[in-house]
Amino acid sequence: MSSLSFENVKKVYDNGHLAVKDFNLEIEDGEFIVFVGPSGCGKSTTLRMLAGLEEITDGIIKIDEKIVNDVEPKDRNIAMVFQNYALYPHMNVYNNMAYALKNQKMDKKLIDKKIKEAAKLLEIDQYLDRKPSKLSGGQKQRVALGRAIVRNPKVFLMDEPLSNLDAKLRLQMRTEINRLHKELKSTIIYVTHDQTEAMTLGDRIVVLKDGIIQQVDTPTNLYNNPKNKFVAGFIGSPQINFINASVKDDKLYVDKNIVDISNYKNLKNYNNKDITIGIRAEDISFEDEFENGFSLNAKISIIESLGSEDIVYTEFNGQEIILRDFKNRNFKIGDVHKIYLNANKMKFFDNETKEVI
Ligand code: ADP
Repeated sequence: MSSLSFENVKKVYDNGHLAVKDFNLEIEDGEFIVFVGPSGCGKSTTLRMLAGLEEITDGIIKIDEKIVNDVEPKDRNIAMVFQNYALYPHMNVYNNMAYALKNQKMDKKLIDKKIKEAAKLLEIDQYLDRKPSKLSGGQKQRVALGRAIVRNPKVFLMDEPLSNLDAKLRLQMRTEINRLHKELKSTIIYVTHDQTEAMTLGDRIVVLKDGIIQQVDTPTNLYNNPKNKFVAGFIGSPQINFINASVKDDKLYVDKNIVDISNYKNLKNYNNKDITIGIRAEDISFEDEFENGFSLNAKISIIESLGSEDIVYTEFNGQEIILRDFKNRNFKIGDVHKIYLNANKMKFFDNETKEVI
């Protein structure tokens, strides 16, 4: 278990590419931190710098208050779990898990105890004699986790560990990793491009874009209070809706609709300016149910039936607006319907800075 910190960490690759820019983060002992963002945003680079597998160009990385910039990877007491498992194919599960401990010249009995405990925790005790080729993807990933656990590292680093698994197994392993974190109380840093994975696993989530931290927050805060348009759009499924609007004399104009915004002090500075509204699919309805709201006439374009709900894609003035609808309404594609927007749940974004207003 361990605390970690990044201070002004920067990575420029030899080809001049700036992969991570001024990364600052304090991680508490036992926290489950998720780095999330689109491919190429610098997640793996940051993780690899922490592991010591990548040199840092500038800044300081500390583990337990100690600067580790020049500490060898093997001496950082960190265990990494990768998406491709990286198991030794010629060794059975037991020996895969024992490998690092044998190298440390750990007592054989102690190795055996650790492996049996970890195998039980991960429910792979019946596979200890098997070679990796005789295991399913989920079982291999458990072995990879087991190999990390027996080392009793200060920190677990996980780089997209579930992305090779099918959807059902991914869900199962996600629950498993959550359970492991609760039992081991270890510090985990987990990299994924999947926002659902991030939301369900992280105590706190670090949203990255182009090597720059956009926001560090709890899943709920990221969802409810995104700092900018990127975070609002990246977190949440279906994606948040963005709708063009303009401000005039304490009123918000959405096409010809007028919304009273005298309560939104921040919008006063935007008089005679265009802004963007952000509103989530569950804050729009086919029924007039909101205390403070307005309606638009939208054309139904796609309906995705998920059983418990329908995700309805509509079009308004060339903009896509998505609703979550819990009633089976037998709408027809191309029909125009009134949709009601909950003005109390709207976010507003500056069209220039893309920051929340
Ligand atoms: P992510 O994990 O978020 O997908 P990475 O950290 O792997 O992103 O990469 C961040 C950026 O750095 C990308 O634009 C990638 O192409 C670039 N990059 C990664 N590794 C190298 C390298 N060895 N040399 C040059 N550029 C690299």
